[in-house]
Amino acid sequence: MENRFLRLAAEGIRGLSPYVPGKPIDELEREYGIRNSIKLASNENPLGPPQSAIRAITAAQSELSLYPDGGGFHLKQALASKLGIEPGCITLGNGSNDVLVLLAETFLTADSEAVVSQYAFVVYQLAVQAVGATCKVAAVYPAGHAKAYGHDLDAMRALVSEKTRIIFIANPNNPTGTWLASTELEQFIDSVSEDVIIVIDEAYNEYVEEPDYPDAVEWVNRFPNLVVTRTFSKIYGLAGLRVGYSVSHQDIAALLNRVRQPFNVNSLAQVAAIAALDDPDHVASSRTVNANGLRLLAQGMEDLGFTVIPSVGNFLLVDMGRDAAPYYEALLRAGVIVRPVANYGLPHHLRITVGTNDQNKRLMAALTSIVESD
Ligand SMILES: *Cc1c(COP(=O)(O)O)cnc(C)c1O
Repeated sequence: MENRFLRLAAEGIRGLSPYVPGKPIDELEREYGIRNSIKLASNENPLGPPQSAIRAITAAQSELSLYPDGGGFHLKQALASKLGIEPGCITLGNGSNDVLVLLAETFLTADSEAVVSQYAFVVYQLAVQAVGATCKVAAVYPAGHAKAYGHDLDAMRALVSEKTRIIFIANPNNPTGTWLASTELEQFIDSVSEDVIIVIDEAYNEYVEEPDYPDAVEWVNRFPNLVVTRTFSKIYGLAGLRVGYSVSHQDIAALLNRVRQPFNVNSLAQVAAIAALDDPDHVASSRTVNANGLRLLAQGMEDLGFTVIPSVGNFLLVDMGRDAAPYYEALLRAGVIVRPVANYGLPHHLRITVGTNDQNKRLMAALTSIVESD
């Protein structure tokens, strides 16, 4: 039945479909009556949060009756010194998702446009549509191309018009795991008018091991229209707390600051993020577990006859060769939650987060028996 208030909703909202998150473990276990299931569906860190962050949260509990520091002074100081930038360049968000929405609210209007790539992280389209703006989608490199599924920057540039206000690029991209090398990305940014905001989403930055993968924060001083977003949800293991940030020209940060909610990052998230930033060992072990797991899963998938799209993130996009839904369902029954990506126009694919070694083995064992009983 049609929503009876649909006609009253803002135009952009009328055509919007809600974001579909990975299935929570609790929901699976309630619905299927099973236990001990694992979730490899939302690119969370299988090692959990760093102990230092848990200690910081415990210590901060006595101040829960107070509003958080709305300016995030200490977290911005910690980020600024780690990244070698001015605190005024930082915008904190309730997850980096919040910053992506703030960017859309700040720079887009109903008659303006944003440019994204096919298979780009779906939140960009949602943020653009919610404010009534138009999203232009550039085709990716086709199957068979050396960079198949990856962003085609020339195709994206061709969609830039007088109306374009924002270009969103995830590097690496979710759900494809594809990435852009330093030279091509830098040339692209250089070739676009400074009147277009370029957002480089580096949610998985800390996982990438390729030598020519760029750190776009280093470019922010050169390109005033560049905004780099990062998050504590992925390698830092704090997805449940919701904290992320952007680095940009101070004038962009000042505009985002006009739009954001005054207390958009809660106090526990702020102290946990500071502690996590100061815990390089947790990041290092997370990287190692991921690199090993990525290799094991890629090999295992190929051995089972599936096609893997090379990934530099903490997840893998796998082409199951036919409708992926039955595999998804069978894995759920085995207590393993992965992510279907039909909503991305990829009905034959599954996106699988790299887990601990035990979790990866459990997934491969479950998938092997599904394939064998086919
Ligand atoms: C997970 C993810 C984010 C981060 O979301 P948060 O709101 O910070 O939890 C941002 N961009 C991409 C591409 C992601 O995959």
